[in-house]
Amino acid sequence: MIKKKIAILGSTGSIGKNSLDVINTNRKKFKILLLSANSNYSEIIRQIKKYKPKFFVVSNFVTFQKIKRKFQNKKTIILNEFSRVPIKLKFDITIAAIVGIAGLEPTIQFTKNSKKILLANKESIICGWHIISNIIKKKNTKVVPIDSEHFSIQQLTNSYKDADIKKIYITASGGPFLKKPLNSFKKIKPKDAFKHPNWSMGKKISIDSSNLMNKILELIEAYKLFIFNPKKYEIIIHPQSLIHAIVVFKNGLSKFLYHETDMKIPISNAIYENKINIENIVKKKNNFLFKLKNLKFEKVDKKRFPIVTLVNNKFISKSAPIILNASNEVLVDCFIKNKIPYNGIFEILKRVFKDRDFTKYAVKKTPSIYEIYKIDKWARDKTWQLISKNYEKFI
Ligand code: NDP
Ligand code: MG
Repeated sequence: MIKKKIAILGSTGSIGKNSLDVINTNRKKFKILLLSANSNYSEIIRQIKKYKPKFFVVSNFVTFQKIKRKFQNKKTIILNEFSRVPIKLKFDITIAAIVGIAGLEPTIQFTKNSKKILLANKESIICGWHIISNIIKKKNTKVVPIDSEHFSIQQLTNSYKDADIKKIYITASGGPFLKKPLNSFKKIKPKDAFKHPNWSMGKKISIDSSNLMNKILELIEAYKLFIFNPKKYEIIIHPQSLIHAIVVFKNGLSKFLYHETDMKIPISNAIYENKINIENIVKKKNNFLFKLKNLKFEKVDKKRFPIVTLVNNKFISKSAPIILNASNEVLVDCFIKNKIPYNGIFEILKRVFKDRDFTKYAVKKTPSIYEIYKIDKWARDKTWQLISKNYEKFI
C-alpha cells in the first residue's frame, strides 16, 4: 500500500496535535514527512521521538539550535526555515495549522507542493487568499477548510450556485461571557476568557471566541473561500456549538451540519473524504437525540459583543482585514500579558480604524506578499503606539 505523505505545519498546537491523533489511529496508511513548530521544546522532542518525521521545521532560532544539537546524526533533519525544505518534496496532505500571520508564507509554499491542503490558519485566508487561490487554480490543489463553520458551509453548498442560496448562518457559541453581567466585563482576566464552554483551543483563538472577533474573522474567511454574496451571511448565537452552519436555499429547503465539538471530526473527514467511521477516532458518547432537543439559537446582542459592529464594508473588504487581523493579534497578546484590559481590545481597534492613515493602507485589492507585510507592520506599529498612548488609562 502506498502511504499518504503528510505535512503538519504547527504540529505542537491544538489543531496540530488533534491531527496527529487522527493520523495515529491508522499510522500504517500515512508517512509523516514533515512537522513544524515554533518554540515548544518538550513537545517537539516528544513528536520527533514518536513520529520520526523526515523533516522538522523549528522557527524559533534558539529552540532550533537546541533541538538540532539534541538530534545530531539522527534520522530527522532539523531546519530553521521553511525555505530550506527541498522544493522537490511533494505531499499528499498538508495540514496548515500555524497560528497568526507566521502561517501565511508556509501555507502558500505548501499549497504549491501538496495535492490536498487542510486549512486551519485563518490569517493566511484573511490576508493572502488572493495569492493562495491563484496557486490552487494553477496546481489543482484541493482545499478543505477545517474550521468547523467553513467545513460545514463547504459540505452544505457543494455544487450549489449563489443564485440557489438565500441565507447562510454562521453560528457562534457566545463563549464564556454569554450570560455574564455587562458591568463586570471590565474585570475579565485572561484565564476567564480561556475557559471556552465547548471547545478546547489555542489561547489566541479562545480570546477571539470570547468577544466574537473569531466570528468576524470567520465571516471574512467565508467571503474569501466561497462564491456567495457577502450580504447573505449572518452570525447567530448557538450556545451548544453543535450546529456549525445553516444554509437556507431558495427552493424552500434548509440544511444544517451537526457534529460534536471535537476538531478531530472535521479533520478526519477532510483527510478521509468523509469515508470514515468516526467511532474509531473519537470515542465519546454523544446522546444525539437528547442534544438535538435542546438546541438553542438567538440573535447577537451588540451591547454584549460590540465587535460585531465591525461588520461594515469599510473594515472587512479589500486590505482592511489585514489591519484588523494584525491589530487584533497585538491586542490579544497584550491582553494575555495583562498589559491592557479586556475592553481595551475593541477600544483600541476602533482607534486604529479612525487613524488618518487607515484608508491609505486599507484599500489595496490584491496586495503582494511584500505589501501584506507592509500593511501588517503599519497596523502593528499603530496599535502599539495607541497602547502606549493610553497606557496610563489602563493601569
Ligand atoms: P495553537 O496556539 O494551539 O498552536 C499554534 C501552532 O503554531 C503551534 O504549533 C506553534 O508552535 C506554531 N507557531 C506559533 N507561532 C509560530 C511562529 N511564529 N512560526 C511558526 N510556528 C508558530 O493554535 P491552534 O491550533 O488553536 O490554531 C491554529 C490555527 O488554526 C489558528 O490560525 C486558528 O485560528 C485556527 N483554528 C483553530 C481552531 C481550534 O480549534 N484550535 C479552530 C479553527 C481554526 P509552538 O507550540 O512551538 O509555539
Ligand atoms: Mg470556528
